[in-house]
Amino acid sequence: MYPVMLEVRDRRCLVVGGGGVALRKVQGLVEEGARVIVVAPEVVEPLIEMAGRGEIVLERRPYHADAVDDYHLVFAATDDREVNARVFCDAEEAGIWANVADDPELCSFHLPARVRRGPLQLAIGSAGEAPFVVRRLRQLLERRFGPEWGEWLSAAARYRRAVRESAVDRELQEVRYDRFFASTVDARALTARVPTAAEEQKWLETPVDHLHPAAEPVRGHREDADGKGIVSLVGSGPGCAGLLTLRGHRRLMAADAVVYDRLAAAALPCDLAPEVELHPVGKVAGTHPVPQEEINALLVRLARDGKSVVRLKGGDPYVFGRGSEEAEVLAAEGIPFEVVPGVTSGVAALAWAGIPATHRREAVRLTLLTAHEAIKSDGPQVRWDLLAADPHATLVGYMGVTALPQVVANLLEAGMDPETPAAMVEQGTTAAQRRVVATLAKLPGAVEQAGLQPPAVFAIGPTVEHAEVLDWYSQLPLAGHRLLVPANGLDLADGLEVAGAELVLLPLPVTPAARVVMGALPLTGCVVRSAAEVDWLDEERGGPGWEEGVTAWCVGREAAERARERGWPQVHEIAAGVDSAEIAAQIAGGAGAGSTERPPR
Ligand code: SAH
Repeated sequence: MYPVMLEVRDRRCLVVGGGGVALRKVQGLVEEGARVIVVAPEVVEPLIEMAGRGEIVLERRPYHADAVDDYHLVFAATDDREVNARVFCDAEEAGIWANVADDPELCSFHLPARVRRGPLQLAIGSAGEAPFVVRRLRQLLERRFGPEWGEWLSAAARYRRAVRESAVDRELQEVRYDRFFASTVDARALTARVPTAAEEQKWLETPVDHLHPAAEPVRGHREDADGKGIVSLVGSGPGCAGLLTLRGHRRLMAADAVVYDRLAAAALPCDLAPEVELHPVGKVAGTHPVPQEEINALLVRLARDGKSVVRLKGGDPYVFGRGSEEAEVLAAEGIPFEVVPGVTSGVAALAWAGIPATHRREAVRLTLLTAHEAIKSDGPQVRWDLLAADPHATLVGYMGVTALPQVVANLLEAGMDPETPAAMVEQGTTAAQRRVVATLAKLPGAVEQAGLQPPAVFAIGPTVEHAEVLDWYSQLPLAGHRLLVPANGLDLADGLEVAGAELVLLPLPVTPAARVVMGALPLTGCVVRSAAEVDWLDEERGGPGWEEGVTAWCVGREAAERARERGWPQVHEIAAGVDSAEIAAQIAGGAGAGSTERPPR
């Protein structure tokens, strides 16, 4: 087999047959600008429409010894093997290339599977030997090559024109192409980026004597003379992965090592390259947290190894996170560091619970309190009298589940109005969020009754009064759902997220970072659209995050059947081709109208 890419623009191509298979061939040819003549007595509606729009010529009649030598390419896709064979023989005789759908013996050329990103095309073939692997490989590459490759190729084409216009010799042209490629393609992650105009300009100005340049590294590996790396103290935000900052995300994607706390785990980008070292240092159920001195030593060691280190901490690194202590150690050791602030939970969890941190005329001061520290008698003392005497303020308490009764007792004793509105929010901004609203005096009892657990923040002050009216999150149809969606389901992501779901966008193959994220909180379901996705997830089932009750929302029969075959306990089938709003509606409604749920075998 000899692969070629044919220029079919304005060339005559014959398609015999008018069913779904013929339609796909016709569409592919028309997209590339071919002049397509379809011959078939019966044709599907879209072909009639295409003919009506003048995109193809439709001859509604049976095939009979046509003059195939009028054409550049001939395709047969009828359900009659004899007709197909006749078309093929006629074409062979006339010396025209011919392809009969699903009949390798009647083909003088095969059609590869394609992955297409704008002008970039990858074609995959197995010389007809193993079409099943071709299909799977295509799916794999579909997932690995993001949409950015299309734009990247267009940028490369522009860059090539500029290089050629610069009229330098071939060797220097190659150097300039190398710089473009090495600086824009991450070979490990198989991602590409479009360079800025300034970068392109710089590469175009590579001097002639600079024939073996080191390209700018794609990852943030710094190899200074003294081998020192850098530590970025990054705030992960309160738990919802989307609340990580763009700058924090960039640092993570360029890191060699990530040292993360338990509360920051959910914000790890799932597509972090498998080679990135992951160091969990937070408290995981049943084990002790890594002592602070060990964390400090780890950061110093990794940085001394010349690595780009991200120290990922929940919320904001400088708000009750001991980030400043770590920064002091780095400063003392002479290790370069930076701070990337994060969205602090004391503000974000409240917002998710309908409580504004401040409100004009009502609360003109915001106090962030570490409740756990504040009730200790041996540390810095809190002026409860001042807090109690300030009705136009919001008091937000971190680490306050066990300390709450004491905090409230102190405030009441200092004269605060027992009717002051108050609330506590557990696991704010995540699918596991719970909220208790009461008066100051009644809050500790209500929290205990609801059994709220850390992490939780409390809010005391007049703005809590808005909690009912501004409660936007818990009203959402998918509030409380934590859904796993294969990363090529990006088209579904916005719709499901706007409907309230927390999403884990899972790259396939699954990365170590994605496993950490899956395990950060229990999943409630997964959305799959192909048998291959079911196969991938089947390997993860039973792992961290996959507790009882994970529902498989299968879009299309193929996925549902594979899930049932694999013995998944809860399988809901959703009709293929529906949009994310409809999928969200069905998930929200349990089985939902229109689903074709069948009992598991
Ligand atoms: N640096 C973090 C706070 C670390 S202290 C920040 O800026 O948010 C840990 C405390 O943060 C927890 O005990 C809890 O009070 C609070 N917290 C963290 N994540 C939270 C969440 N998702 N919802 C509610 N409180 C949270």
